[in-house]
Amino acid sequence: MGTRLRITAVPAGLTHVHGVIVQCTACPRLRSYGERIGREKKRAYRDDVYWAKPVPGFGDPRARLLIVGLAPAAHGANRTGRVFTGDGIGGSGDFLMSALHRTGFANQPTSHHRDDGLHLTDAYIAAAVRCAPPDNTPTPEEIRRCLPHLAAEVAQLPRVRVVVALGGIGFSAWLRLAAAHGVIVRPRPAFGHGVVCDLGPGEPLLIGCFHPSRQNTNTGRLTAPMMEEVFELAKQLIQEGESSGASRARPATRRAPASSTGRPRTRARRA
Ligand code: SF4
Repeated sequence: MGTRLRITAVPAGLTHVHGVIVQCTACPRLRSYGERIGREKKRAYRDDVYWAKPVPGFGDPRARLLIVGLAPAAHGANRTGRVFTGDGIGGSGDFLMSALHRTGFANQPTSHHRDDGLHLTDAYIAAAVRCAPPDNTPTPEEIRRCLPHLAAEVAQLPRVRVVVALGGIGFSAWLRLAAAHGVIVRPRPAFGHGVVCDLGPGEPLLIGCFHPSRQNTNTGRLTAPMMEEVFELAKQLIQEGESSGASRARPATRRAPASSTGRPRTRARRA
């Protein structure tokens, strides 16, 4: 039997979108903050050349699972140039990648630098905001301004069936994106860990998940099993959608995993 080659080339459309993101200068506050962090550096990384630019998404262009985070960390993705990468041992990158590894979406449980061999299968990671914000807090205007980048990237990911939003900002960014193409959610779903939102025919299902920030993981608000359950649920929903042969299967009262909020799905309707 011949050897099967893994195809890792990024499609031209996605490469173009990434190029546009990296060159964006629409938010002077965020661009100058990222550049300043890149000049001043953290002692542990003083020999590194920081990326210090907007950070595009990363992963499998044929992904059925899309993960939407908040924004690059100042000494993480703003340093390495890859989302959820390099924010220290046991940081959010490792926490996320470990869950993705256990559920079969990542080939390794860590995410330390761009050439560390990390490969995602059937999953793609993006962020609501592509530049590192001071105190991890972008302004509403900066979030709004960055949304077209997420829209452009998603347009290049035609197979996405399930979106896992990490934190409330990613969750509401996705709802905004849906609203921008006519999907109005009533009542507007509240973010919660394990909440599943059905946004209607042809729309990916949206799952809320606490962000794997150190604040959440160190306090036990988000545990490794909780995050793993969310990705197991995502996998299950993807498979149900595949086996239904239609847009997606949508049982009306599916509940989130036991350790999460246990709330039923929220339904949405198109305007
Ligand atoms: S946050 Fe987004 S919109 Fe603002 S400069 Fe960075 S990439 Fe551009």
